[in-house]
Amino acid sequence: MSKGTVYLVGAGPGDPKLITVRGLEALKRSDVVVYDRLAGPHLLQHAKPNAERIYVGKLPDRHTMKQEDINQLLVDLALQGKTVTRLKGGDPTVFGRVGEEAELLRKNGITYEIIPGITSAIAVPAYAGIPVTHRELASSFSVITGHESPDKLDHSIYWDKVTNATGTLVFLMGVAKIGYISEQLMKHGRPSSTPVALVQWGTRAEQRTVTGTLGDIEAKVKAANLQPPAVIIVGDVVLQRDKLAWVEKKPLFGQRILVTRARSQASELVARIDDLGGEAYEFPVIETKLPESEGAEDQIKQALSGAEDYDWVMLTSVNGVDYFFRWLDRFGVDVRRFHRAKFAAVGPKTAEALASRGIRADLLPERFRAEGLLDSLEEHLLPGQTALLPRGDLAREILPKELQAKGVRTVEIDVYDTILSVPDDVWLPEMLARGEIHVVTFTSSSTVLNLLEALRRLGVKNPQEALANCEIACIGPVTAKTAEENGLKGTIFPEHYTIEGLVEALVARRR
Ligand code: SAH
Repeated sequence: MSKGTVYLVGAGPGDPKLITVRGLEALKRSDVVVYDRLAGPHLLQHAKPNAERIYVGKLPDRHTMKQEDINQLLVDLALQGKTVTRLKGGDPTVFGRVGEEAELLRKNGITYEIIPGITSAIAVPAYAGIPVTHRELASSFSVITGHESPDKLDHSIYWDKVTNATGTLVFLMGVAKIGYISEQLMKHGRPSSTPVALVQWGTRAEQRTVTGTLGDIEAKVKAANLQPPAVIIVGDVVLQRDKLAWVEKKPLFGQRILVTRARSQASELVARIDDLGGEAYEFPVIETKLPESEGAEDQIKQALSGAEDYDWVMLTSVNGVDYFFRWLDRFGVDVRRFHRAKFAAVGPKTAEALASRGIRADLLPERFRAEGLLDSLEEHLLPGQTALLPRGDLAREILPKELQAKGVRTVEIDVYDTILSVPDDVWLPEMLARGEIHVVTFTSSSTVLNLLEALRRLGVKNPQEALANCEIACIGPVTAKTAEENGLKGTIFPEHYTIEGLVEALVARRR
């Protein structure tokens, strides 16, 4: 068997978009991903669905895996012929022990790549509005470890030299030693008035900054109970934060928002959350697929064979449109055979999906739900007409019922099935328990039911309780009702039942 390759990849400081293109490519093609806490669970979503994910960080019931064991693990995996990505927080060469990993790989004749990442030493200050250099304030910077015990610190750091060697000093792993570090810097000549900032969990939803001076920072860090991981920045550049701070000003800053809709449909919501400074956490609990039963196929085939007979084709979702066209293709039906029919779309996105196929909806209701479609159809419908309703198997009953009441013959076809998907994500239960998910979004009733079921399957005994401290944001009143009926309290829903409306509602309630 040929040996696999190991990619030693810098994952960046936390924001999952701060990985390099090369790093992401390695991640996407690997059979195994080895990661720890700083590299975060977010990026794993890019791994192949069947890729093995090995966590080597700390767990409540286990210590961090020893470095020697991680080195050996990488070798073993590569010897099994696997392509491996070792994800490391920030840049792998900055206090990342990549040297030891690469060394053992080399000894075993295994090919490796060291793929740089954006180090927290620069990125975390930047996200707090602090540039590490500045034309007038600092023409150099140092990155220094603060990790080791004070006596070791004194061995490895020449405080007399380090203190004044560069304009800006950046300490990693130094929170616990902040008192000692400030003391040394003052002792060796930095004034006690020198500005200092600590930025905890930079580039993530939890980002928090404490500023002060060498003289008072220890007390301030204690008072704020600031915990690792944090980057310490010392020097005049820290004052730039007053002018340049930016992430904190975004309307959804600090909000980690769970997105439960199907991965294929989540991109718009995820992008909007991201634009507004929130952190989207994707946990898709539904998937759609073509119905499999022969009966379903026959029924669709028959309904489409009478294309010329329809007065209406009514589409109620983007999925409905997508799958409708898939079936046309499957049975070789040219859409022009619906030449008599008018097309109605239940919402703007559905209309857009139609438009992308060259069909302008004849009717678009004011209110984006089935009832809205009915109201606006009222004057256009004539008894004796025939309507085709291509929809998902979970679509609501109200539309066909009302149409029939008006004497319109309806032909319903289930063009797709919605099924439960349980993401392979061991982190969500833990994040919920720690209060790290602030908002949960639901874009349909099935996302509500499926999230509860998915959590149960991930071992959460009482999903309602697990979600009790999250804000529940629904796309519209029907979804909100399902959420409330299933024990989720305090739901909000927007005025306009669209993704944009949902996002606006999230922003509005933060003002
Ligand atoms: N290789 C990493 C550093 C590893 S040492 C890099 O290049 O960023 C671990 C230390 O990095 C932490 O103790 C903390 O000081 C810092 N760190 C990493 N990510 C951080 C983040 N998101 N916010 C604040 N500090 C971070």
